[in-house]
Amino acid sequence: MKYVIIGASAAGVNAAKTLRELDNSSEITVISKDTNVYSRCMLHHVIGGRRNLEKISFVDKDFFSKYRVTWIKNKSIIDINIDKRELVLEDNSAEKYDKLLIASGASSFIPPVKNLREAKRVYSLRDYDDVLNIEEGIKVSKKAVILGAGLVGIDAAIGLMERDISLSIVEMGDRILPLQLDKKAANRYQKLLKDKNIEIYTSVKLEEVILKEGGFVDKVKLSDGTEIECDMIVVAAGVRPNVGFIKNESIKIERGIVVDNTCSTSAKDVYAAGDVTFTAPIWPIAVKQGIVAAYNMTGHKKYLEDTFALRNSMNFLGLECVSLGIVEAPDNSYVVDIIETEDVYKKIIHKDGIVYGAILVGDISYCGVLQYIVKNKIDISNINKNIFKIDYSDFFSIKEDGQFKYKAL
Ligand SMILES: Cc1cc2nc3c(=O)[nH]c(=O)nc-3n(C[C@H](O)[C@H](O)[C@H](O)COP(=O)(O)OP(=O)(O)OC[C@H]3O[C@@H](n4cnc5c(N)ncnc54)[C@H](O)[C@@H]3O)c2cc1C
Repeated sequence: MKYVIIGASAAGVNAAKTLRELDNSSEITVISKDTNVYSRCMLHHVIGGRRNLEKISFVDKDFFSKYRVTWIKNKSIIDINIDKRELVLEDNSAEKYDKLLIASGASSFIPPVKNLREAKRVYSLRDYDDVLNIEEGIKVSKKAVILGAGLVGIDAAIGLMERDISLSIVEMGDRILPLQLDKKAANRYQKLLKDKNIEIYTSVKLEEVILKEGGFVDKVKLSDGTEIECDMIVVAAGVRPNVGFIKNESIKIERGIVVDNTCSTSAKDVYAAGDVTFTAPIWPIAVKQGIVAAYNMTGHKKYLEDTFALRNSMNFLGLECVSLGIVEAPDNSYVVDIIETEDVYKKIIHKDGIVYGAILVGDISYCGVLQYIVKNKIDISNINKNIFKIDYSDFFSIKEDGQFKYKAL
């Protein structure tokens, strides 16, 4: 049996490790464009100068030899022949497989804004190579614009801020981190960023990049007419799955590669895991899917049960925050409880005993139990207690024989 994995990141590496743990004798090959294994979530620390490539690796140096995995690195897959069970690499060599896992992740999306794709010194932040390119930009830049104020955009801002680049962030939502935070929570971060002299423009779109001689970035023009001078732009406007090598509809693709809860695709013996499936483009889900795929590739039935992706933790500029589920009540039928002090902001959105969302800023001590309640839609209507004080003990009762019983199950 020969297992082949496309991608050497969260999903691919965890799948390779699990395959070896479950199957001691088969051949395992990982093929990746990446030449190193590293955490993309930490790339901004490399920009900021706090870490180097080695310090963002999430495997030991001897990982591939220890798990007896052949790693073909720095090579792109350009085609798959499902009938022949064969991959075509960029040098036109072929790699046979018996079972295939596609864990090729996603790439940054550069929106079709006038001059944005053509301009020089426009960067994305997805791969280590992007960091090297940004580094070249930093050498000749004093001012940067960050397009998009999601987690990646704010990561980029923090990294560049640490390199003394003067920054403007442009976000089309009415606040930064619009998927993770409500207005009040976002305002707390916006204040911290503004205190660091970072300009924030919300509810505006990038309309055009104005170029100077040589095709270099000179200014950006926003939809409200504002013009911001800059030497470089970092685009953090979302991602698209890496599926370009799948041709002739040989594998079903919608937003990403379509998988069931065993990570099987529409093609026989082909599995997919991680951002390429677009189940939820976050690290923990990619890891879980990689592991689930490996189990099923080796004939052990395992199902992906937890795709709860609406959880985010962040700690920008020393302010801790966790957000879970929805961040705004959809309508007036929901109850919204809030605690607000100078240092802390907490909000819980619930209806008929079910908590649909929560935001904790400044004090995240309560996030474990809250995540459990939100993720599992636990009914808390029988717990007569302040909603901010519910803890695990509230879900246990003592049976007549003295044993503890878990009430929520
Ligand atoms: C700046 C940044 C910050 C982030 N912060 C967080 C965070 O705080 N929390 C969180 O949960 N998530 C975060 N993420 C998202 C997280 O990094 C991804 O969800 C995760 O990396 C997905 O892992 P993956 O294995 O599916 O794909 P990827 O990490 O995208 O890896 C894809 C792999 O496939 C390879 N590949 C792609 N195409 C080909 C091809 N044609 N041929 C061969 N190989 C190919 C690549 O070289 C790579 O090895 C962040 C991402 C970025 C960029």
